[in-house]
Amino acid sequence: MSNKTTTKDVSLEIKEIQESGLRVTEPRKKILHIFESNEDQHFTADMIYSELKKQGENVGFATVYRVLTQFEEAGLLVRHNFDSGHAVFELKKKCHHDHLVCISCGKIIEFLDDSIEARQCKVAKDAGFEVTSHSLTIFGYCSECRGNTK
Ligand SMILES: [Zn+2]
Ligand SMILES: [Zn+2]
Repeated sequence: MSNKTTTKDVSLEIKEIQESGLRVTEPRKKILHIFESNEDQHFTADMIYSELKKQGENVGFATVYRVLTQFEEAGLLVRHNFDSGHAVFELKKKCHHDHLVCISCGKIIEFLDDSIEARQCKVAKDAGFEVTSHSLTIFGYCSECRGNTK
């Protein structure tokens, strides 16, 4: 992650916010920019809040949380509730994928397995089900955490 806000072109963020029907504000631009420049990452509200702070932005936690919720409602972000802890957000425009979640350090690994996808489709089809979406999350300990406990 960059340690300082760049003057990089943020027209993409502005366009996306406008298209989602929201008014373009500084916090919204900055927050979406963090997601756009770290596409593979999943962020909690806390992580966004600290990243903004690191960039010298004066945005309160309540604002961060509100913007994330607005982005979710506007279809820019997807929210995951992987455990009883904190909601995690990621860009919605990414291709479909599933997640491995480490219950020790919270690391999130994305995966996409064609045979699992096909299998899920078949299960649904056999049950006469029309699928609108699905999410598969596998919980456990990542390789690093397993190494630490051994
Ligand atoms: Zn871990
Ligand atoms: Zn993901």
